[in-house]
Amino acid sequence: MVDINKCCITHYPALVLGQKAEPVKEINDNIRALAEKMKDIMVKNQGVGLAGPQAGVGLQIFVASPDGTKENAKVYINPVITPSGKIVSAEEGCLSLPGISGRIQRYSRCAIKALDLNGQEIHEEAEGLMARIFQHECDHLNGTLVADKLSTVAKIAAKKKLKRLRENYQP
Ligand SMILES: [Zn+2]
Repeated sequence: MVDINKCCITHYPALVLGQKAEPVKEINDNIRALAEKMKDIMVKNQGVGLAGPQAGVGLQIFVASPDGTKENAKVYINPVITPSGKIVSAEEGCLSLPGISGRIQRYSRCAIKALDLNGQEIHEEAEGLMARIFQHECDHLNGTLVADKLSTVAKIAAKKKLKRLRENYQP
């Protein structure tokens, strides 16, 4: 059971961000409340996506909204993605890594299979921003952050900022 009141935006180097998230076993009111809370956290922090670990919850769930609004936010549970197409590089940031951004290489297209909040299977094909969000959020569910994917030069540039985040971190 997830304590919804304890869910809040989680910053690097919180342990949960570096761990592989567990599958959601049962989609119940607790999970629905978690999804609602995750949408609120995403909107409040002006993001376009948020994964469970970013709310402090090591479960395979994420929300995504290409325009950052709550109305257009969709929930994906236990997602499996199949990226395809060409590799494209674009500027990307992450709510869990404030102040850090850089060009990240992603596939241009992405198919996703997941469950919705009613336990129904979702199948979608995405391209552009939505394909990028799917890949970014699924990275979170595997414990991978954009800081791990920066180019060597960008990694050096981010080093100080990461150090500051570690120093300022309060569990
Ligand atoms: Zn992120």
